Amino acid sequence: MPAAVTHVIVAIVIVDLFRKYVLKKKNFPLYLILIVGIAGLLPDLDILFYWIFNLITSVQISEVHRLFSHTLLIPFIAFVIAVGVWTFWTKFAHILFAFSAGYTIHLVLDSTLSGKLALLYPLTTMQYGLNLIPNILLRILKIMFRLSNHQEEFGRYHRGDI
Ligand SMILES: [Zn+2]
Repeated sequence: MPAAVTHVIVAIVIVDLFRKYVLKKKNFPLYLILIVGIAGLLPDLDILFYWIFNLITSVQISEVHRLFSHTLLIPFIAFVIAVGVWTFWTKFAHILFAFSAGYTIHLVLDSTLSGKLALLYPLTTMQYGLNLIPNILLRILKIMFRLSNHQEEFGRYHRGDI
């Protein structure tokens, strides 16, 4: 749940900053920011499908979560449709752009902060990502472990044990 809230808030903040400082609030109604927030949550709804599949058959969460819904193909298709209908259905195009932005922000957050994603699924299952949070936490733990070892050796040295 905290991750879901983070996805919604980060997507809304990024698009609101874009609206204020890049577009200067021109032709950008607030309901589009709501759509960005909802779209920022949608990729993780695959967990619901996992729960449903798990009632019927024994499926692992790794077989469902972060695979089918965590692909750039979905926001790309929405973006292409938005560009296609822009001239004659502008309001719907704006909704699709907002959806595409929120969805893409979710994928960027997931792939940079935690784990790797098959961003080009179903074209390829190759996974991309920086996995920054676990890597940073692991480095902090290693540094803390080294410091505690140094302190222990330092203490033994001064007590005359070494
Ligand atoms: Zn996700």
